[in-house]
Amino acid sequence: MLRSSSNRIRGALWKLAIGVTENRLEKLERLREWQQLDPEETRQLQHDRLEALLQHCYKNVPYYRSVFESERILHEDGTIDIKQFHEIPLLDKDTLRSEFEDLKSDDLSSRAWYRNTSGGSTGEPVTFIQDEEYDDWGRAVTSLFRCWTGYRSSEPWVKLWGSERDLFDERKSIRSRIGDLLRNQTLLNSFRMGPEEMDEYLDRIDEIEPTFILAYVESIDELARYARRNNRIVHSPRAIMTTAGTLYPEMRSTIEDVFDTEVYNRYGSREVGDIACECSEHEGLHVSVPTQYVEILDDNGEPVEPGEPGEVVVTSLTNYSMPLVRYRIGDIAVKAESSCSCECGWPLLSEVKGRVSDVFIAPDGTRVHGEFFTHLFYHEKWVESFQVVQEAVDEIHVKMVTRNSDELQSERKNAVIESIREVMGQCTVTFETLEEIDRTKSGKYRYTVSKVSDINDDY
Ligand SMILES: [Zn+2]
Repeated sequence: MLRSSSNRIRGALWKLAIGVTENRLEKLERLREWQQLDPEETRQLQHDRLEALLQHCYKNVPYYRSVFESERILHEDGTIDIKQFHEIPLLDKDTLRSEFEDLKSDDLSSRAWYRNTSGGSTGEPVTFIQDEEYDDWGRAVTSLFRCWTGYRSSEPWVKLWGSERDLFDERKSIRSRIGDLLRNQTLLNSFRMGPEEMDEYLDRIDEIEPTFILAYVESIDELARYARRNNRIVHSPRAIMTTAGTLYPEMRSTIEDVFDTEVYNRYGSREVGDIACECSEHEGLHVSVPTQYVEILDDNGEPVEPGEPGEVVVTSLTNYSMPLVRYRIGDIAVKAESSCSCECGWPLLSEVKGRVSDVFIAPDGTRVHGEFFTHLFYHEKWVESFQVVQEAVDEIHVKMVTRNSDELQSERKNAVIESIREVMGQCTVTFETLEEIDRTKSGKYRYTVSKVSDINDDY
């Protein structure tokens, strides 16, 4: 009784709070309509939105004006020839840094813009500009994805998250605490995941009884494994959405099993926001076509066939302050060979395989995806967490947090070395046991790091 009346009050406050973001609600409504379009209408919608962005780039963004002229992306009358879109050079992080000034839109002063920065676990972080319009679209997409799980506004939900910005900025934290209350949202800090904190988080989840949990994939996987080891029965939410990392099949099955629920995989990045998410059919991740134009390309920059892995190149259709056109986001994904059996007409990615820099290069040139190592270590019961680093082409270093006896470890270590050599060829494999594996600035683990990968990774 008490609970239902407090939910009603929260619901009313929530509506009051979102009254100020009418713009976002309107966008959410448009997204809901657009997801019902048939494939041809969806293609037309995306074509129109891409063309509008490119016209803006030509008119207002010096970098693109000069690229479009030199690459002949224009009709004679000065309008964009969208058929030539694939001739636009790919944009990488180095270019984003070096051409920063020329990538800004001329009309920036008329836009509510702000700076954003991507994590930067290695190397220099990359800075880019976004604006309120982009942010409203992004939040509308996030809301839509959450609705796909059956979540209804004002229901209690939990966010297991590790962003430094979200959690440690004191000024923000007061504002966001009020926001959390209105949204019925509880934040659990994925930066601190020792046994004590994990017990506390599981208690909080039991107490709050969230219908929805949004989490860093590695963090919720870690929490699920901890609950399983300690034989804890945990509250079962209607859905768990994982993001900010690769959801390997082993992780999905652990999380679904421990929390007795469905996992929804969401894919996105700091530079362009949410890109794609699973619907309740779980047949792949629907690309948010009104906000993102996604290409999957091979090493020569040509589109790969559906079913084949390739590099993700994305054009954000909503950030007019600093348009990112054909941006190399640094991930590998696969376009689905078929469409989803749900009613949403947005095309599917069948899989997001992780970072380009997760790919190891064997001495004979063979590319070995980091997923191999995740498979290798995930079910080794003596390994609590791990990070595999390719230091040189013939040098693999394994950082581990271990448990169980030394005897078991040395026996399994030999088996692991053998498996690695089978795939990588002749190489040295070294092990280092640590108390804890370093996380990235935003609190994520990286399971694999290749220092010989040809992509400079600032994730
Ligand atoms: Zn679907």
